[in-house]
Amino acid sequence: MSSPSPRRPLMAANWKMHKTPAATREFIAQILPLLAANFAAARPCEVVIAPPFPCLPAAAEAAQGTPISLAGQNLHWEVSGAFTGEVSAEMLLATGCQYVIIGHSERRQYFGETDETVNRKLRAALTAGLKPIICVGETLEQREAGRTEAVLRRQFEDGLHGLTTEQLENCVLAYEPVWAIGTGRTATPEIAAAAHHFLRELAGARFGAPAAARLRILYGGSVKPDLIRGLMAQPEIDGGLVGGASLDPQSFAALVNF
Ligand code: PEP
Repeated sequence: MSSPSPRRPLMAANWKMHKTPAATREFIAQILPLLAANFAAARPCEVVIAPPFPCLPAAAEAAQGTPISLAGQNLHWEVSGAFTGEVSAEMLLATGCQYVIIGHSERRQYFGETDETVNRKLRAALTAGLKPIICVGETLEQREAGRTEAVLRRQFEDGLHGLTTEQLENCVLAYEPVWAIGTGRTATPEIAAAAHHFLRELAGARFGAPAAARLRILYGGSVKPDLIRGLMAQPEIDGGLVGGASLDPQSFAALVNF
């Protein structure tokens, strides 16, 4: 019999640019009773919600006293300054965030994020005491050219450059193949697990096997309630980073309660 994973499952909702503060309050009020059994379980799935910045105060108020954690969807690496439109790690912490998503493919694709900026953001988040959810993943073109592992290696090594093993303990990795995000096309559990295995090997080579064994790696890319069991049956998959299916309390609760 295989022993249970040492890693606690985590389901993270990435709301992207959806919902208002009122809709945020309504979502949390509706989902809490649907998560009661999970939170009462001996080994509950951790739940993280990443709303848009203006919804964070409403989310913090609605989730107060519950096990729901909040995440920012992005941050700037500087502490403060003339950076119009940006937010700092300190601001996220002050608004109730414990986590922050870094390097999402939409930020890489539309907002010029690179492995270098991912690394700067990662260091800023860790220094401030935020737990980063670091996104990596290949495009369809890269996969079809047989470059998936090379791309993941570059994103992992450059993105996590200079991190200590101690800092890795506070990080979560998300494997999000770009071709599966918002497309309705999901990686099969086997394809996702192979990529997770590869990432864990990279983590082992860089940070040592014990730290790699504790590193949580989420899968993201059109995760839906009917697919979650197959994905979570893979020992390498520790949870999900979910876009579309996290906007509805019923469907996100079904993912948490897999
Ligand atoms: C995401 O945005 O991280 C994501 C995986 O989106 P979706 O679930 O909609 O594909």
